[in-house]
Amino acid sequence: MAHQDPLDLFIIGGGINGCGIARDAAGRGLKVSLAEMNDLASATSSASTKLFHGGLRYLEYLEVRLVREALIERETLLRAMPHISWPMRFVLPYHREQRFEGDTPVGRALRLVMPWMKGRRPAWLIRLGLFMYDNLGGRKILPGTRTLDLTSDPAGAPLQPQYAKAFEYSDCWIEDSRLVVLNARDAAARGAEIMTRTKVTSAENRDGVWHVTLSNGETRQARMLVNAAGPWVEDVIKGVVRLNAREGVRLVRGSHIVTRKLFDHDKCYFFQGRDGRIIFAIPYEGDFTLIGTTDADHADPSTRPEITDAERDYLLDFASEYFKQTVTRDDIVWTYSGVRPLYDDGASSASAATRDYVLKVDESAGAPVLNVFGGKITTYRKLAEHALAKIGAHLDVKADWTGGVALPGGDFPVDGVAAQVGALQDAHGFLTDAWAKRLVRAYGTEAAEILSGADTAADLGQHFGATLTAREVAWLMDREYARTAEDVVWRRSKLGLKMDKEQVASLDAWMAQQKDAAA
Ligand SMILES: Cc1cc2nc3c(=O)[nH]c(=O)nc-3n(C[C@H](O)[C@H](O)[C@H](O)COP(=O)(O)OP(=O)(O)OC[C@H]3O[C@@H](n4cnc5c(N)ncnc54)[C@H](O)[C@@H]3O)c2cc1C
Repeated sequence: MAHQDPLDLFIIGGGINGCGIARDAAGRGLKVSLAEMNDLASATSSASTKLFHGGLRYLEYLEVRLVREALIERETLLRAMPHISWPMRFVLPYHREQRFEGDTPVGRALRLVMPWMKGRRPAWLIRLGLFMYDNLGGRKILPGTRTLDLTSDPAGAPLQPQYAKAFEYSDCWIEDSRLVVLNARDAAARGAEIMTRTKVTSAENRDGVWHVTLSNGETRQARMLVNAAGPWVEDVIKGVVRLNAREGVRLVRGSHIVTRKLFDHDKCYFFQGRDGRIIFAIPYEGDFTLIGTTDADHADPSTRPEITDAERDYLLDFASEYFKQTVTRDDIVWTYSGVRPLYDDGASSASAATRDYVLKVDESAGAPVLNVFGGKITTYRKLAEHALAKIGAHLDVKADWTGGVALPGGDFPVDGVAAQVGALQDAHGFLTDAWAKRLVRAYGTEAAEILSGADTAADLGQHFGATLTAREVAWLMDREYARTAEDVVWRRSKLGLKMDKEQVASLDAWMAQQKDAAA
C-alpha cells in the first residue's frame, strides 16, 4: 500500500525514542508512520537497567541539565504509568577508606583542593550530592534521603561488616520494553501506522518529499524523516539517507547478570567501585537479583551485544566486594547486554561520554531529517517534546500534550496497584496473588479486559507455564505486535526466567499456528 498524500513524519526505529516521538507527534495530529526492523524494543530499549533515574553518578560529571530534567521527569512518568513503573529505595553503603580512581570533573577538583584524600570521597560530599539529587527535581511523591545504620538495618544483613553506614535515596523502576510497546500502541490509537519487522532500506528526496523504501517492497512518502535508529543512527545517516553528516555515535556496551536472589528485602544497592564506576544490585522478578552494568566500547551495531567473560567476572568481583557471600558464576541464571548509542563528543572514556541526548536536523538532502543521538529511557518523553519543537520549524505542530497523560492501562492512582490487584481477584477468584499482581503490573486497568468473562483458569485457554495463558498471548499478538515466543517471554514479559525450553517451544508453535490461521 502506498499513501496517496505524503505523510508528515516517517520514523525509522521502534525503540523508546522512535515510539515516544511517534506517540507525541500522532497526538498533535501529524500523519505518522514508523518502521522497526525487528520487534519493538528489540535493541537497546529492552536491555537497560530499567530505572527512571536522575543518574546520581552523572553529578560527578557535572551533567546538571540532564540530571535535573530526568529527576523532574521521574514523577511525571510515574503518574502516567503506575502499573509499569514504581518507586524504589537505593542503599549506598559508605566506608571512609573507599578510594575512587575515576577521572571525573568532581574527582579532579577534589584531588586539587583536598590532595590528602587520595581518591577518598568525604561523606559530606556524598551527602551534598544527595542533597542536590533530592532537591534539583521538585520531588513530591518520592521520599528523600536518609542515613542508615547498617549494623541494625535489614539492608546491612547481606553486606560485609565494614559497611556500617549507608545513605538511602529514591529513584524508580520502569519495565523498559513494556514502556516502548505502550507508547507504540498509544501512537497507533492516535492514528500512527506502526510496522514491525520492516526495515527501511533507502530514503531519497524527490522534490522536497522523502521516498522511503521498505524491506517488504512497500514505499511511503513523507515530508520529514526521523532517524531514531539508536545504535544504527550513523548507519542510517550514511547508508539509508546517504548524508555527509559530521555527527557520530559512540557505541558503549553495557552488560547485566541476573543471579538467583541474593537478599531478601525490596531495596536496591548502589555500589561504588575503586575504578570510579558504580553498579546496581536490584531485586528482580521476585526470585532474582539484577546486577549491572559494565561500560565497554562496542565496534559494530550489527554484532549482537553479549557479555564477555571479563565483563561477567568484573560484575561478580565488584558485587563480591560488598556482599558477605561471594557471588560466583554458578549464581548466574541469565545475562543480557545492550549498546548505548551515545553522541560522540570526543570524550576519553566510555563511562565519561555524555549521556545527554543531541537532536540535529539535517537539510542537506533538500528535505529535512532529524537525527536522534543518545538519550535515556527516563528522558524519552522530554526528548520527544524537544524533537517536536525541532519538527515544528518544518511542519505545523500543535502544543505539548503528553505530560500527565496516562499510557494504556495506566489510568489509576500512583498508589493504586494493591486496589487494582484486589479488584481483579474479586472478579476472577481463581487468580493467585502473584498471578494477579503480574497482570496488573503488566497491563494495569486493561488486565480486566484481558480476563473479561473468565470464571475459571480453563476459560483462559491453553496454559503455557508460569501463569501465561492463550488469552493473554492472543492479546499480545492482537494488540501489542508480538509475533514470536521471544517477543512474549523476553520483552512483553520476563517469563523466560520462569519457563523451561519445552514450554517456550510450545508457545512458539502455538503462536506460529495462530499467525497461519490469521493469514
Ligand atoms: C546497559 C544499559 C543500561 C541502561 N540503563 C538505563 C536506565 O536504567 N535508565 C535510563 O533512563 N536509560 C538507560 N539506558 C539508556 C537507554 O536504554 C537508551 O538510551 C534507549 O533505550 C535508547 O533508545 P533508542 O530508541 O534510541 O534506541 P533502540 O532501543 O536501540 O532503538 C532503535 C531501533 O531502531 C531499529 N532500527 C535500526 N535501523 C533500522 C532501519 N534501517 N529500519 C528500521 N528499524 C531500524 C533497531 O532495530 C532498534 O530497535 C541504558 C542503556 C544501556 C545500554
